[in-house]
Amino acid sequence: MKITDLKCTVIGENPVVRVDTDEGISGLGEIESTKSYLKPHVLFYKRYILGQDPTNVERVMLRIRNLGGFKPWGSSVSAIEMALWDIAGKAAGLPVYKLLGGKIRDKVRVYNGGVRPPLKGVSPEDYVENAHEIKKSPEEFTIMKWGIGFHSRMASTVPGYFYGEVEEGYHYANRGLTTERGLEHTIACVKALKEEIGAEIGLALDCGPGWTVTSAVRLAKALEPLNVMWLEDMITGDYTPYTAVEEFRLVSSSTTTPIHTGEQIYLRQGFKNLIESHAVDIIGPDPCDVGGIAELKWIAEFAEMHGILVAPHGIFDGLIGLAALVQACATLPKNYIAFEYPVGRPEWWYDVVEGLPSKNQIVKDGFIEVPDKPGLGIELNEKAVRKHLKEGETCFE
Ligand SMILES: [Mg+2]
Repeated sequence: MKITDLKCTVIGENPVVRVDTDEGISGLGEIESTKSYLKPHVLFYKRYILGQDPTNVERVMLRIRNLGGFKPWGSSVSAIEMALWDIAGKAAGLPVYKLLGGKIRDKVRVYNGGVRPPLKGVSPEDYVENAHEIKKSPEEFTIMKWGIGFHSRMASTVPGYFYGEVEEGYHYANRGLTTERGLEHTIACVKALKEEIGAEIGLALDCGPGWTVTSAVRLAKALEPLNVMWLEDMITGDYTPYTAVEEFRLVSSSTTTPIHTGEQIYLRQGFKNLIESHAVDIIGPDPCDVGGIAELKWIAEFAEMHGILVAPHGIFDGLIGLAALVQACATLPKNYIAFEYPVGRPEWWYDVVEGLPSKNQIVKDGFIEVPDKPGLGIELNEKAVRKHLKEGETCFE
């Protein structure tokens, strides 16, 4: 089998990658809705993969893997990797998880970072009201995550939150030493949240990036009695193009509250020092950024050998990304906690991607059943695709 084309069409705001072959089998991959600008970057890789056998996934990846980077520059490589696995699975008549060594769980736990109304504000009452609404969602999530601190409007709307100038309209530009008032406000919000959701639901918090080591330690220690599941990306994260291994190690060695990072990191090499020095307790590689499905598997296995847990990021990965997350996470070792559940937004995505259970049945009791269809188990409905193309796009022509 040979790769005959690599195409990319922006549907809504998500670039969708399609790899075509001479045997009529195509594979799909998807890039986050926040990265529609990456289409030319995807097409850049075409020259490197044409004529290759897509079922030798690793051999193809060796040709392009070195030409990616930390978020957002790992997304295109990751989407192509997913499409290759999709082809390999369809060609073999097997779900991708079988090609990765088989599933070790029949259903995968997900956590809720995106099924919710927007927060009205950042007071303890606002968080409680938001949690109250989310608890009603039919998915019955067992773990929920909220943004606090610099990963929220706290820094820009709570007066005197930190010793720094507030920067508006720039992605997470606020960083610095939190004031006592800022710290107390943050702790009050988490306490209120925990009281509202109770012990039955795990509470995870996305915190930054932007904290100094000393404030991060103070927050983590203050929250110890609340048994939160993790504090995410306090030092670096999101779009930080490096990893603050030493700073994370200082924080995590000073507290029993689990420390989490890794959504922006590219490749297993990007995680090597973090894992080997036990700088965090939990890592969160996103298969749509880290280099793909198999990359996530390798990193999780390496983390398992070091006693580190895995809770993959995924909120903006879309429904094709969701299919890839399920296949990958079905195969991860016992250090797996849950992945962040991506929703189809806008709603019409559920008409565009076929093969998933209907929208209201994807998550049951906080879990997703692992499907057995070949490849990623999904197809595009081209008629629906044509209705929702971004302006100026054609349907993989
Ligand atoms: Mg995050």
